[in-house]
Amino acid sequence: MTAAEVSADDRAHVFHSWSAQGLINPLPVKGASGSYFWDYEDTKYLDFASQLVNVNIGHQHPRLVAAIQEQAAQLCTIQPAFANDKRGEAARLISELAPENLNKVFFTNGGAEANENAIRMARGHTGRHKVLATYRSYHGSTSTAITATGDPRRWANEPTAVGVVHFWGPYPYRSPFYSQTPEQETERALRHLRDTIVFEGAGTIAAVLIETVVGTNGILVPPPGYLRGVREICDAYGIVFIADEVMAGFGRCGEWFAVDRWGVAPDLITFAKGVNSGYLPLGGVIISDEIAETFRERPFPGGLTYSGHPLACASAVASIEIFKEEGIVEHARMIGDDVIAPGLAELADRHPSVGEVRGLGVFWALELVRDRATREPLVPFNASGSAAGPMNELAAACRERGLWPFTHFNRVHVAPPCTVAADEVREGLAVLDRALDVADRYY
Ligand code: PLP
Repeated sequence: MTAAEVSADDRAHVFHSWSAQGLINPLPVKGASGSYFWDYEDTKYLDFASQLVNVNIGHQHPRLVAAIQEQAAQLCTIQPAFANDKRGEAARLISELAPENLNKVFFTNGGAEANENAIRMARGHTGRHKVLATYRSYHGSTSTAITATGDPRRWANEPTAVGVVHFWGPYPYRSPFYSQTPEQETERALRHLRDTIVFEGAGTIAAVLIETVVGTNGILVPPPGYLRGVREICDAYGIVFIADEVMAGFGRCGEWFAVDRWGVAPDLITFAKGVNSGYLPLGGVIISDEIAETFRERPFPGGLTYSGHPLACASAVASIEIFKEEGIVEHARMIGDDVIAPGLAELADRHPSVGEVRGLGVFWALELVRDRATREPLVPFNASGSAAGPMNELAAACRERGLWPFTHFNRVHVAPPCTVAADEVREGLAVLDRALDVADRYY
């Protein structure tokens, strides 16, 4: 097919996510390899977004492709009530990577379903109904997951499901608590969480659901002691701690799971994206022994036709093996520490519009401002249309030079595959350097 034919079918028949259908013109993509994808004119783009921050292992990894082909020849599908070799192996490998007391996996088709089912488990385990989630969060677009989501994507879906209460998580650069130091931010954020629990009624709260490192809402790395504090508060009130690692897990933060960086064990971890780099739809919930025990004699009231799909599970098994054999988690940490962090610090030195650089592993954000002293964002929160102009111009300036960035409100995120080479990062940062001149013009 030609690019024009691909576009014609797309425009006539594909209904796209999160879009005004008449205002978009999706790029027809022909192929991909490693850190790049290309269109029908063979224009190559360096994928600094890893698609939707999911292609952790890079595009078209030959071993992963072969593992899917092998499984397809063996057994494409078998319903979840049967035992299956790849399903069991994937569950075992994932549990072995997770903190010690998380030993069972419920498979889903993606991240939203993982959060839906984690909440259901927490409610069943505690006999309580409320879920606390942060305002700066995204947990998926199914019913309960979009209700738990704190960002503006929730607004258009209201009225949503019931039972979610939002609270403020830490965000040192724009602290809602007026903190001066990260330590003070931790203390105040934890006090706010405790107060929210007390005023909502601890006996009504099933779960605290947080992204370990907040993703789409700004790569907010928790300040020292925050996650440990959340763990202690959950323990004190008998609340289930759910860590959403859909975006932060599987190497993205230079760890298998982001919680590993702080040595904290949640009760449930939700995952998707990086588990198999999205080569096939897969997500899930990793479950603590205590919560699994709740459902030993009592049925778990949930299920999916494709839960633990053999093709998807085979791809997870192969992906985890590749991660281990190629040292991809360690590589992601090294790239973050030695290449991205110093590279972005240089950009911040050169461009006044860069208000803050933050991140870890291959998960970074540049927060752009009109004024460093006042921290006025380059475009307002939930900017759209003309207000987003500077960000659209900046993204276009990147794409013209072969870089595919991820931009959201007043931020540019740098999230290449975990396998990205140091030279590829430097190539991308050089393009970003020129594109940031656009943002500086609005400073
Ligand atoms: N949770 C987080 C932190 C995410 O970033 C996302 C997607 O971006 C989701 C959940 C939803 O995952 P999915 O789109 O696979 O349903």
